[in-house]
Amino acid sequence: MKILYAASEVAPFVKTGGLGDVAGSLPQALAAAGHEVAVVCPLYSKIEDKWRKKMKLVQKLYVQLAWRSQYCGILRLRQKGVTYYFIDNEYYFARKMVYGEYDDAERFAFFSKAVLEMLPELDFQPDIINCNDWQTALIPVYYSINYAYRPWYEKIKTVYTIHNIQYQGQFGRDIVSYVFGIDDYHFDNGFLEQDGCVNLMKAAILCAHRVTTVSETYAEEIQTPAYGYRLDSILRWNRGKLYGIINGLDTKAFDPLKDKSQFVNFSVRSLERKKMNRAGLLELCGLDANAETPVIGMVTRFADQKGLDLVAAVLEDILRLDLRLIVLGTGDPAYEWMFRDAMGRHPDKLHAHIGFDAKLANQIYGGSDLFLMPSLFEPCGLAQMISMRYGTLPIVRETGGLKDTVFPYNQYTGEGNGFSFTYYNAHDMLHVIEEAVQLFKTNKQAWKAMQVEGMTTDFSWAASAQKYIEVYEGVINE
Ligand code: ADP
Repeated sequence: MKILYAASEVAPFVKTGGLGDVAGSLPQALAAAGHEVAVVCPLYSKIEDKWRKKMKLVQKLYVQLAWRSQYCGILRLRQKGVTYYFIDNEYYFARKMVYGEYDDAERFAFFSKAVLEMLPELDFQPDIINCNDWQTALIPVYYSINYAYRPWYEKIKTVYTIHNIQYQGQFGRDIVSYVFGIDDYHFDNGFLEQDGCVNLMKAAILCAHRVTTVSETYAEEIQTPAYGYRLDSILRWNRGKLYGIINGLDTKAFDPLKDKSQFVNFSVRSLERKKMNRAGLLELCGLDANAETPVIGMVTRFADQKGLDLVAAVLEDILRLDLRLIVLGTGDPAYEWMFRDAMGRHPDKLHAHIGFDAKLANQIYGGSDLFLMPSLFEPCGLAQMISMRYGTLPIVRETGGLKDTVFPYNQYTGEGNGFSFTYYNAHDMLHVIEEAVQLFKTNKQAWKAMQVEGMTTDFSWAASAQKYIEVYEGVINE
């Protein structure tokens, strides 16, 4: 197959979050499976010179956006079996920020239109265009309105991937004809409209040939009012073309045997060496603990999505248990102060580092016994997979990707790779923490079996890429 992957950020060139990681890894895994894969992304001024030096200008064209005619340079770079195209227009992309500019709707409309316009110029006729989140939602929209009936384009199929349903691309209605150059009719008939405003994610769900999201459970959850952010009915209606595919992990980057930030490298064959990371982490954080006292780590954005209100509700009860809690995070000041304050009162039990620190994050993954991630919702979640790779057992709420990757300890069979609770309830979480602490103290054998289970699970992209291939083949062959 010929696959074009369109995304508003792609690691390692430009990344603000999970989408960048997926767009960096999935295309390479698809290429490794034998497909011809190209990725397209805007050429932001943030993209460093070391990458620009490797790029070659391969085409120049003008893209029509309503009454505007905008320059569009196309630069190419080849790496790891994938061809990367960068869309160059300094008016739109030579900005300080990747997102959050006053004219984001116009910037990404230009990008989406440019992606469709560049294909014949490059003589690249993909079987599939996989678009992602609201920024590229206009690709299937433009495709269905303006391109699907042109002979050169008619065989192309579009796949639309939702990484987080909270951000839908909502704008005022005046933008439809004036900026997008789309007839108002498509707003008035409800295609582009939701709750009185333009909603690009809704339109892409309606017109893409397939819709995917980043875990099976999240695919179910977003069809309910509690998780669907008002698009649940649209998703229920389109559930026949909706698939959940869990993200993979960059298993080379997160490998306890190679990771330079570890105090001592270890693997599943030398698990006893993990103790030295634990000792190193405790010393680094100014804490002291004997071998029977578990260390619980948390590495997270301080946002409500991550279940911090549960932690807030029972923090004193957690700290009454025989454990050490090490927290790394930043975000909502209310939680930053909550942890600073609690650390002042319990300096021997809690260490909170407020900030973003990739090295300390890996030291927490490597040195902790347990990892707490009680999310309210979690489309996929990487942190729980990273912690399992490092032999650290996750405690999670059963939602989204957490439910699909963490299987709770079964005291009768000994099976499992972590601990979980079902309802978004602080005392349910507290109870599971108590159980985990107890098991750590009393059953080393069961503990080790779960560590081995987590460390030997295949979290690589290969399996997930295969599922994307099945979705692509399904739509091509229908
Ligand atoms: P989300 O993308 O919703 O924040 P994920 O679990 O998918 O959650 O990914 C979060 C990633 O960001 C993990 O790799 C985690 O280690 C990292 N991370 C989050 N907060 C911090 C922080 N304060 N310092 C370092 N790394 C962090």
